[in-house]
This record gives sequence, C-alpha cells and structure tokens, in this order.
Amino acid sequence: MRFKFTDFHIHTRPWSVDVAEDGPTFIDYIKIVEEHQINICFLDHYELYYVENDKTNPFYNGRVDDYLEEIDRFKESYDFILSGLEIEYYEDKEIELSEFMDDYEKEFDFIGGSIHEWIIGYPITTREGLKKLLEKIPMKKIIDNYFEVSKKMIDSQIFKNICHIDTIFRYINNNEFIPTDDCNVSENRVLDLGRLCMKNRIKVELNLSGLRFPIKRTFPSMKVMQQLKKEGVEFFVGSDSHSLDYFKEQIPKVINTYKLLQQI
Ligand SMILES: [Zn+2]
Ligand SMILES: [Zn+2]
Repeated sequence: MRFKFTDFHIHTRPWSVDVAEDGPTFIDYIKIVEEHQINICFLDHYELYYVENDKTNPFYNGRVDDYLEEIDRFKESYDFILSGLEIEYYEDKEIELSEFMDDYEKEFDFIGGSIHEWIIGYPITTREGLKKLLEKIPMKKIIDNYFEVSKKMIDSQIFKNICHIDTIFRYINNNEFIPTDDCNVSENRVLDLGRLCMKNRIKVELNLSGLRFPIKRTFPSMKVMQQLKKEGVEFFVGSDSHSLDYFKEQIPKVINTYKLLQQI
C-alpha cells in the first residue's frame, strides 16, 4: 500500500444497492484518492440472502468473481486500493457463510462482517425498516436481539473484522426514536461486544458514518473506542462512504482518527 492510512469502508455503484444510480464507481474514488494520500478498501455489501434469492442483486449468480476481477484489474495500475466485502451475518446461514469464507477469504484483501437486518425485510439501519420493525416488536426486544445476534456473529469467528458494532443506535437515540424506559442502552453492552471481539482476535471498526446522522457520533462512540483501545482492542477506520462528496469530507477525519488511535 502506498500511503500510511486506509479508509476500509467504501461503497460503490453498481455493487452496493444503497448507492445512488448516479453514485460513484471504483474509478471515481480512485481519481480523487490519489491526490489525498490515503488508501481505500472497497467494501460493498454482500448479503447472502439477496445474493441467492434476488435476481436483481449485483452479486447474484456468482458475480462476486466479476467484482473481484474488476478490482484486481485496477490494482495493477493503482497501489492504494484494496478489495473487500461487507458481509451480512445471518444466524441461520453460518455454514454457508463459512463456506463462502473458505472459498473467498484469501481472494480478498479484507472482509468485514456486519448486521443490518436479522429479520429479512426489516433493516434497522434504515429509518423505514426500523419503523416497520417497531410496529411488530417492542423496542427493548429489538435492542436485546441486536446484541444477542451480534454476540453470535462474534463468537462464530467467521469474520476477523467487525463493522459498526453498535449501529442499532443509528436511529434509536435521543435525537430520533427515543429509547423507552425499559431499554438497556448502556455503554457497557457495547464495551462487552468489543471485549468479546478482542477475546476472539477480531478487529473492530471505528465507523464514522454516525456523524452524518442525528446521533452525531461514531460507531462505537469515541469514549467507548478509547476505553476499548486501552484494554487492547484493535481498530480499523471506515468512513462508510456512499457518495463522493461525503467521502471527500471524511478523508481528513479518517486520517485524524488514525492519529488519535496511535496516541491511545
Ligand atoms: Zn454497514
Ligand atoms: Zn457499509
């Protein structure tokens, strides 16, 4: 890698379905990255459920090989990009996920595991998805379920890197869907997930995306990060960019975050 620091969390078109139709492609990022002195890792969503069942999914029908080939071609000319995937964890698909990792982990530079929806069709990382889920399940149970599934993902050891460990609070916080009194939103739960990652030798993302949501903080918070770092947890930094304007804004923040991590 040419530069000192790496933004490990970049989404592109057409590979991530939540990037706009006129959103950035690999080369769009590459063009601006070179002058900003940072490496980037493409980390597009790989959600096995949709890869298998949805013909419109960009990775449907083995297209992960095309994705990899395309990035590998760019890597021949640019020494500051990495190939990666943000893979969705499903409790009931651990075998398939492990098989996928056996086949592909070595092909990629970096793979992160994450959780956006554990009930298909109800992602907690979109406002509408969470709203729909709240009509079905009490908030306390949603939060508890999130932490239970996260624990399972970490203990499964399928992934060596975990993205945005407390993203359940993207919309459940005092600025959005206010936690009901019975909810346990204590920092200790997030700290325990981080400690579990350390026990399983898993690196934790410091995800900057929360800064653009009303919660206005990273995932996990800087306070939790500092505590975990002191205890020995290893971090990588990701902007979770889905657009070029946002990405450009994040570059100095990513670099500063790495510098801060080095000081702890
Ligand atoms: Zn994510
Ligand atoms: Zn992401």
